[in-house]
Amino acid sequence: MRRLLPRPAACLAALALPALLAAQRPGAGAAPGGRPQPPFGPAVGPLDPAPGSAASGYLEVPARGDSATRVPVTVIRGTTPGPTLALVAGTHGAEVAPIVALQRLRPMVAPAQLRGTLVLVHVANLPSYLHRTVYRGPWDQKNLNRVYPGRDDGTVSERIAAVITREVIDKCDYLVDMHAGDGNESLRPYTYWSKLGLDARVDSLALEMALAWGHDHIVIDPDRPKDRAASLYVQNTAQVRGKPAITTETGWLGVPDPEMVARNVDGAMRLLRALGMLPGPVEKVRRPVWIDRTQVVASPATGAWEPAVSRSEYVAEGTVLGRVRDLFGNVVAEVSAPFAGVVLYVIGSPAMSVGEPVAFIGRVGTGPR
Ligand SMILES: [Zn+2]
Repeated sequence: MRRLLPRPAACLAALALPALLAAQRPGAGAAPGGRPQPPFGPAVGPLDPAPGSAASGYLEVPARGDSATRVPVTVIRGTTPGPTLALVAGTHGAEVAPIVALQRLRPMVAPAQLRGTLVLVHVANLPSYLHRTVYRGPWDQKNLNRVYPGRDDGTVSERIAAVITREVIDKCDYLVDMHAGDGNESLRPYTYWSKLGLDARVDSLALEMALAWGHDHIVIDPDRPKDRAASLYVQNTAQVRGKPAITTETGWLGVPDPEMVARNVDGAMRLLRALGMLPGPVEKVRRPVWIDRTQVVASPATGAWEPAVSRSEYVAEGTVLGRVRDLFGNVVAEVSAPFAGVVLYVIGSPAMSVGEPVAFIGRVGTGPR
């Protein structure tokens, strides 16, 4: 991989995030929306472990037109009242590094050490995971991360979204939607921070969460919907409800690469410390690479994609990102970078339809401050 810019170093923050959070968080025992919460955190579906214990089980998504499914969840309850953090993996079922990471994380978080409640959504989109689909669910061909807040009378993706909105998003104080490169995406790690503009407190805390998670590339995403009834994305659904949230991208090509699994676990532990939910030093990325413009580059043809660049590579405007061959092997199209920037992901497998992504390019900017 060619890298033209140095990787910024993470550092121990002089000021702990908990101090900031304590100053800005809603009063103890109240959700950001003002709804009273039990002092030790809410029940999540059938899971309501006693303080100092944990429980795992399922949120049921009943059949309606198409099949039923369920969502595997763990609730870890601390011994001290505090915030509820939700970590959501498997919104796209082939993005497996976060899924494996939450399985590793579960025994690492001792309830006796925890302040508040940690909710782990192990696989949000079980139909996609079990049927190994990318982008869309196998039954309704819908993208789970485009149908929030969901509806109980909709198709299975919409019903999953409705259950997660009600049982996880409405009940948490902070949320991370943990993605990776999908089964066909060779992706370098980065975090989305959405400056939604509805609530400065929420935007500011979400930025602190992004810095705490640890990825040195942060995409500033100003264009997410502000409509509570059509929030589309998991992260967005939390933010329009007053809960600071980020989306992380950690992993590639549908495999649980050990380094990517470890970075997901590390990000979760860093955030738990930053929120004051676990003891230990607070680390923040000191000099992130801010990405202030992005573009999904689409394929002009159907056939076989042949990438010419690698994830994390910096490209000039006009650099050839790859070529599309027809199904007989003839080159029918060449795709170039629309502007100079970093390859956040490039498609790494051949199957390609016209209009589908071939790469995601990000321009390096100056950041929000
Ligand atoms: Zn995803």
